[in-house]
Amino acid sequence: MLNLTDIQPQADEIYLDNNATTPVLPQAAEAAIHTMNLCYGNPSSSHMTGLKAKYILESTRMLARQVIGADSGDIIFTSGATEGIQTSIISALNACREKAKTIANPVLLYGATEHKAVPETLKHWNAMLNIDAKVLAIPVDERGILDYQFIARHASDALMICTMVANNETGVFQDLKALEQVIRDNNPGVLWMVDCVQGLGKISLDIAKTSIDYAPFSGHKLYGPKGIGMLYVRHGSPYTPIIAGGGQESGLRSGTENLPGIASLNAIFKLLNDEQDDTFKSHDVLCGYRQQLADTLNKAFENIVYNHDFDCSLPTTLNFSVKGLSSKDIMDLFDAARIRVSSGSACSSKVTGSFVLDAMGKPKWQSEGAIRLSFGPASTQEEIDRACIAIEDAVVAMQHHCLLLTDANGESDADVDGLQQWGYDNQVTWCYVSQASRQILLIDPVAELSERFQTLVNCRQFEVVGVLNTHLHQDQEDCSQMLRSLMHDAMQQTIVDNLGWPETHGQVTLENGQTVSAIEVGDKVLANLPLPGHTENSRAYLLGKPADGVLKKENIDYVFAGDLIQIGGIGRSDLHGSMPEHLFDSIRLLAEVVTPDTLLCPAHDYQQLFSTTLALEANANPLLAKLLADEVSKTEFIEQKAQLDAQILQAGEQQLCGLIAQQNSTLIDVFPDKLQNFLADNPDVQVVDVREPHEFEAHRREYLDDQKIVNIPLTRITDFIHRFNGEKADTKFICICRSGSRSAAAANALKRLDFEHVYHVPGGFALVN
Ligand code: PLP
Repeated sequence: MLNLTDIQPQADEIYLDNNATTPVLPQAAEAAIHTMNLCYGNPSSSHMTGLKAKYILESTRMLARQVIGADSGDIIFTSGATEGIQTSIISALNACREKAKTIANPVLLYGATEHKAVPETLKHWNAMLNIDAKVLAIPVDERGILDYQFIARHASDALMICTMVANNETGVFQDLKALEQVIRDNNPGVLWMVDCVQGLGKISLDIAKTSIDYAPFSGHKLYGPKGIGMLYVRHGSPYTPIIAGGGQESGLRSGTENLPGIASLNAIFKLLNDEQDDTFKSHDVLCGYRQQLADTLNKAFENIVYNHDFDCSLPTTLNFSVKGLSSKDIMDLFDAARIRVSSGSACSSKVTGSFVLDAMGKPKWQSEGAIRLSFGPASTQEEIDRACIAIEDAVVAMQHHCLLLTDANGESDADVDGLQQWGYDNQVTWCYVSQASRQILLIDPVAELSERFQTLVNCRQFEVVGVLNTHLHQDQEDCSQMLRSLMHDAMQQTIVDNLGWPETHGQVTLENGQTVSAIEVGDKVLANLPLPGHTENSRAYLLGKPADGVLKKENIDYVFAGDLIQIGGIGRSDLHGSMPEHLFDSIRLLAEVVTPDTLLCPAHDYQQLFSTTLALEANANPLLAKLLADEVSKTEFIEQKAQLDAQILQAGEQQLCGLIAQQNSTLIDVFPDKLQNFLADNPDVQVVDVREPHEFEAHRREYLDDQKIVNIPLTRITDFIHRFNGEKADTKFICICRSGSRSAAAANALKRLDFEHVYHVPGGFALVN
């Protein structure tokens, strides 16, 4: 295991994720350490060591009162805002149990863009306490502002209303005065919680002058450590302790107080209250920082849109999307360039949108592509300047690799020569480039990725020779017509069938003697082999180098087989237009013209395995094995396939196009603490960085210890498998990436395709200094 002291921040890291958590201010850290080292007493002890601790506790409470303007009411130290939210909601619901019975349709209202802690806690305690109220989201408009009319309509039935000062994803703030007016006009006594987490230190809160009943705060969002927070409770508002015990915090929250955390708040509150101190910047200065960052982003990304109005947002948050780029693209690039930002969907291979942006009615691409960049109220001009320079530099890497189109686009095509796999959820688009002939073709284009293709084509000035589908996809929008407009005029005039295959084409003969139509791509051909079954017009495209008009099995590089053969299952044959009897013949025909080891590239990839072969599939699938060995009749096959298809509905929508068996992986992990020894013991190992080329450029590591690193992006892993086919048995490969997730996927795929010596580094560059 790594020693804690070996885990260090990257040099020159630019931290722009303050809404998730802030760094700890040195003054706050010092206060905590001082308290741990020297003022370690228990505030409940009556000796002098305890009394000193008690002084820290109570003086911090007084400072807190000044900061939030709470000269009355209780301030209770908690572990953080989630506990504060919990306490508020339990207190309110417990107090309303009887009242709930007197209202015909009681409701619990919360803003649709609240932090998940709020609705989840409402639902949980509504059920646990048998309140049986309807938990209702208050809609927001396109700017994220709460719908007052909705509140007015429902407030009289409300037991509790939960809103927030400012949103953590967008920084959009609510007008508390106006909100109070509408709430109190319609229900003077309803219990009102306002989540103040993102407002502390950024917005002046004269809380005791409002009728807010509960206000939770969190220390780690304002330069304190994690594990400390506080809750304001208005004088006279119902309160139920959720932790009983020794009676600390005047019996409101038992358990020995987190004094080091409280001491750190003490230091922060002193700075906030000190008008001479400039650690915390004025609103105008923060607005200036925001503008500077926005100017840099606007210059960097031509197609940027902001997902909130700056007019009604805190100056410290910028939430944006860039047309044509996924949030993962930007996150990974920025992370490689040492810029830490956040996005809702960056960590999972499944694309998810932001519920906050969805509630604001933003288009799907904006919601799925959103990036949140958040600095803090104690950020400095120097940090913002460095951030802007880092963003400018990072974007150059994207331009070089044609993810962005500008005059400065990449000179070399080497990074795109061959086959790339682009994924969107489990859907796959295959893009093949012949660098020599500067031609490109696209198979099974996913609409969400069409922008990427357009940018690549325009950036490199490639000639598009085909935009093809392997079948009519029932689960996705068809964008191929639109993409064909990228073809040059003569190609656009060519008549194509409904899957994009041109009427004018050449021919090639396959191993079984069958002659099929074919088009040329560089020195290869793409042959069109009709393979009905999954759908009526399903087909496979075979890419390879023919000799004397014959495309022999062993000369086929890749087969784009659509849904016919997937990784872990045969494609469905129970859909509208499916023909199971033809599926039987199609699979047998495919086996006649390819080898058991030819790479099959399917239109779905449910498990990040990229490609497969007939041999591998037959190994895992008894029905396929029997079919290939001629041990099952067509009638038996149809029967057994129907049984398999019936299981798909039970497996859920994820596997709409075929029943997929889970693959077991046997990765060989080389943990970061063992890496140095591993490399020393294996001087012949090939280190493979599987991040995308723009990330590799933004954070270029040429060597890992003494071993040279080569960049084989995950999107090109099938190309790599094909090119390095001859080295499967001998060469050792160790894969590495940012976090260990992509390297695990790459190593898994290689291992599955018989690369014998494959390793990967869990934790990735994040843990390798
Ligand atoms: N409310 C908001 C608006 C937040 O941003 C967060 C943290 O992300 C929370 C509540 C939860 O805070 P804590 O991490 O202190 O439990």
